[in-house]
Amino acid sequence: MALALSMPLSTWRSGVYLLAIIGFVVALKGLSSPRHARRGNIAGAVAALLAIAITFSATEVDHSARNLGLALGAMALGTLVAIPAARLVKMTAMPQMVAVFNGVGGGAAALVSIGELLHIHTTGVSPATYVVVEAVIGVLIGCVSFAGSAIAFAKLQELMATRPIVYPGQQPINAVVGAGILALLLLAVVTGDTAYVLGVLGLSLVLGVIFVLPIGGADVPVLISLLNSFTGLAVAASGFTLGNNLLIVAGTLVGASGMLLTRLMSKAMGRSLPNILFSAFGAVVTATGTAEGLDGKAVKSSTPDDVAVLLAYARKVVIVPGYGLAVAQAQHVVKELADSLSTRGVDVFYAIHPVAGRMPGHMNVLLAEANVPYDELKEMDEANPEMPTADVALVVGANDTVNPAAIDTPGSPIYGMPIIHADQSQHIVFLKRSMRPGFAGIDNALLFDDKTVLLFGDAKDTLQKLVAAVASV
Ligand code: NDP
Repeated sequence: MALALSMPLSTWRSGVYLLAIIGFVVALKGLSSPRHARRGNIAGAVAALLAIAITFSATEVDHSARNLGLALGAMALGTLVAIPAARLVKMTAMPQMVAVFNGVGGGAAALVSIGELLHIHTTGVSPATYVVVEAVIGVLIGCVSFAGSAIAFAKLQELMATRPIVYPGQQPINAVVGAGILALLLLAVVTGDTAYVLGVLGLSLVLGVIFVLPIGGADVPVLISLLNSFTGLAVAASGFTLGNNLLIVAGTLVGASGMLLTRLMSKAMGRSLPNILFSAFGAVVTATGTAEGLDGKAVKSSTPDDVAVLLAYARKVVIVPGYGLAVAQAQHVVKELADSLSTRGVDVFYAIHPVAGRMPGHMNVLLAEANVPYDELKEMDEANPEMPTADVALVVGANDTVNPAAIDTPGSPIYGMPIIHADQSQHIVFLKRSMRPGFAGIDNALLFDDKTVLLFGDAKDTLQKLVAAVASV
């Protein structure tokens, strides 16, 4: 105890930083499963709070009333904006919010790097080369992340065209901007002149914009995960500039986890990252979008009463949720239906595709909101072996994630993506509003299968009708 009390403040600070780092690692571990995601989130928030609080004790911090006022004012303003934003945002708008938060994080990291460089210059000392290198890298990555996230937000929010934007001379323009950044970066490192660093800042903002413009709105969630990883790297770079171990570790954790998530998302979509970033996937709708398939076969539409009988007398029903469930906000009513079937003795579970919806874990979060028990949620690999023994696959607002073209149509944009094998169950019921395709913009032959019926309408309305109809069977 006496030893602890006699420790200098800097040792205390390092100890608290270490605790915060452990907190961040525990948070990431917790966030890896919906079971303990809430605890993980709290661990991360507490660690961040500890880290911020102890930073105020640093001797390098300017403790003048003006400086403290500015810092605390900015924090209060951020809190005032972030709390209502996080509480009010709809689940389907979550990718936009992540884009905004990520963008400001990248921008802040770039500002810290450039601010530190300017600060060193005001002391009359020339910064060491390694400091300029770290600062310039922080500025480059942070600005790309900031500008890219701003465009990603505008696309997701439909403030601008969501389709890939291509323009004449795109490649030469990219090359000129890239070469310009490289030249300015080298000049900044060789001369240490901040004017060149400001040049890198300007061109990096342009790079962020031209990097994201050609990416289709539907691919933007993967891009956001990548930009999130960039922000982590920018934060780590500013940690080097400031000599702050916590920022280095926290930034690296964000960078690495963002990169892993980007990889997992592209793998689950059956596409390579370069294909997502540099092809105009989702731009070209190749679906007929009509109730008649390519071979003239018509879809069979059914009624809630008929489907209720099918469900009520089934032994096993697998619910396959997708993006439409999120759009309809039908998570509570789908649980109501599952519960009423379970009480009738039907074996019910949810088959979760890793990229169902528009962000990783979208369906898990949505269904957790409705308190669906975790043991009823089965990941794709666990669910698929059970599909041949399912009497009914109830596909609620999913499309691409059950489209057999991913398996049997080489050349299809989704070819190679693993799917939930709804096609193997005895009966398939699709809940959707129209014959519009899913995210990939392609026809789904499963809609025309002999075993398939469609219940047209908003998923929430249709499920409410099904709940009522099952109750009267
Ligand atoms: P899809 O986008 O393939 O299909 C959604 C379906 O929901 C459509 O058929 C649509 O038809 C229907 N729908 C929309 N609104 C409603 C509503 N209110 N009520 C009923 N139905 C509705 O969804 P999936 O979840 O199957 O697939 C996700 C796609 O998103 C995949 O292609 C994946 O690669 C992609 N993606 C996923 C990411 C992720 O991380 N999860 C990230 C980026 C992309 P209709 O309009 O006729 O109602």
